[in-house]
Amino acid sequence: MQCSKCSGSMSEGFLLEKGNHNDLSVQAWVEGSPSTKSSFLSQIFGMSVRGKAVYRVQTFRCSSCGYLESYARESTR
Ligand SMILES: [Zn+2]
Repeated sequence: MQCSKCSGSMSEGFLLEKGNHNDLSVQAWVEGSPSTKSSFLSQIFGMSVRGKAVYRVQTFRCSSCGYLESYARESTR
């Protein structure tokens, strides 16, 4: 993966949103894959997306300029 802004190298990760419903939350980018993939996904999606196509979002981060680029290529089922 190459950065489309500065041609730096991109590393794979995912976005994590922290905080409770009433709090303002800041998204964080975490390198690598979610370690507990299945429970992580069910936590996020719950029952509300049953019967719909769901894709895991991979977000790549440029190590030079910090640019984030997201892809939803991998179906979760
Ligand atoms: Zn870059």
